[in-house]
Amino acid sequence: MKGAGQAFASGRLAVDLDALLANHRTLAHRVAPAQCAAVIKADAYGLGVLPVAATLAAGGCRAFFVAHLAEGLEAKPMLPDDAEIFLLNGLPAGAEEECARAGLIPVLNSMGQARRWAAFGAAMGRPGKAALQIDSGMSRLGLSPDDAAALAGDVAFRAAVTLRLIMSHLACADRSEAPSNGDQLRAFEVAAACFPDVPRSLANSGGVFLPSSYHQAMARPGIAHYGGAANDGIGAALKPVVRLQAQIVQLRAIGPGTGVGYGLDFRADRLCRLATLGVGYADGWPRSLGGGRGSAWFNGIRLPTVGRISMDSMTVDIGALEDGTLAEGDWVDLIGPDQGIDAVGVAAGTISYEILTSLGHRYERVYLGGHMGSSRP
Ligand SMILES: *Cc1c(COP(=O)(O)O)cnc(C)c1O
Repeated sequence: MKGAGQAFASGRLAVDLDALLANHRTLAHRVAPAQCAAVIKADAYGLGVLPVAATLAAGGCRAFFVAHLAEGLEAKPMLPDDAEIFLLNGLPAGAEEECARAGLIPVLNSMGQARRWAAFGAAMGRPGKAALQIDSGMSRLGLSPDDAAALAGDVAFRAAVTLRLIMSHLACADRSEAPSNGDQLRAFEVAAACFPDVPRSLANSGGVFLPSSYHQAMARPGIAHYGGAANDGIGAALKPVVRLQAQIVQLRAIGPGTGVGYGLDFRADRLCRLATLGVGYADGWPRSLGGGRGSAWFNGIRLPTVGRISMDSMTVDIGALEDGTLAEGDWVDLIGPDQGIDAVGVAAGTISYEILTSLGHRYERVYLGGHMGSSRP
């Protein structure tokens, strides 16, 4: 099924919604009886929040996490009424009414946010739902354990806020042997003990593949849904969700001494057969993948980049293919069976998360299987 995006684009992004749902089921099975939420922030890691959310909701997922209020407002009409949407970055000042009206659940990360949400609930005469985040050692978001303990004993706060979740976030869940995982789990459990009746959430994708003590009442995987390795390669059971193809816009052969691309960084020392692909850094394909560090693939054959990556195009060496194999208008893989999102991340000196969330909006997007969803009126 064709999704949003452009016809006649020279890049094609296919998102396999059935694979997405299969990954959700794998993750949910692994954490059961804990609930498995889905993190769909940043437009579902760049893959399109509408089809991703609709597919997961149709598959039974009922808890979703976004980063910002605006993302929550966007996701709300796509999801069933009984789905919960949590705002990871918390409650922006002045947004209390908007948040309450849309039924979004802020993650309270600071005493200021906690007090504002309590004051709003008290003024409305109706406590608002919230999650409370505790900083268990990552020093990014969340209350100190002391502040959390103070809130636990604050009768006015407890009356004005309905706590749905106590949560924290692991800094090194992608490395199962990291000693900080156990330290954070213990710190979290001590702090959460002040709220004995409130369900707990700690695990992101990496945490799902740690022992079950990390799963708590609800896990919150993101990247694993989208086929990214969560942790030390144990994510191997997850299916690839993304395929990215680039179209060949020109073929040429160059002789020794001829330069290629900006700066003429590459100079041929022999006869070279080249293909220019219609995808560049403006499409989120990292510039760091130039100079042979990155590659396209065709039927298992690696086609290394030659010279610098341009804004709208890149050049690859197709000498490994028999002459005549490829023609203008043919498609080669940038992300696919021969090169997954983690491999691209490693080659580019970054992580799969950054590759996916950078993909941009010029591709023709194709959604396979699943549910395209629709905004309800
Ligand atoms: C982004 C995020 C997640 C999801 O992380 P993944 O590594 O993609 O599974 C979970 N929890 C919090 C607080 C996050 O910010």
